Amino acid sequence: MSCHRMPPVAKCDVEKCFYNHDMQCHAPAINIGGELHPRCDTFVPCADHIGCTGTSEVGACHTSLCKFNTDLTCDAAEIAVGFHVEHADCKTFEAR
Ligand code: SF4
Repeated sequence: MSCHRMPPVAKCDVEKCFYNHDMQCHAPAINIGGELHPRCDTFVPCADHIGCTGTSEVGACHTSLCKFNTDLTCDAAEIAVGFHVEHADCKTFEAR
């Protein structure tokens, strides 16, 4: 079986996250989950910010309720992340 392509994180507007710089995520990869809610598990609220400016991709996603999810990985062409209450969510999530 071939390896899964990792979708890019095209945009993230959670500016209070350590990995955010200029509305982009610069963590090498992020994880999304729980099962029913597409929370970004990589979000770290922090006044400081990452120094490097590489692009980010979706590693694992545990939100099996999403129509883009296959085998707990993401099949979307790309995703966007945004602020929700006091955390970050995948905004590309669509329920099956
Ligand atoms: S689009 Fe769906 S499968 Fe992809 S990261 Fe977001 S919630 Fe997970």
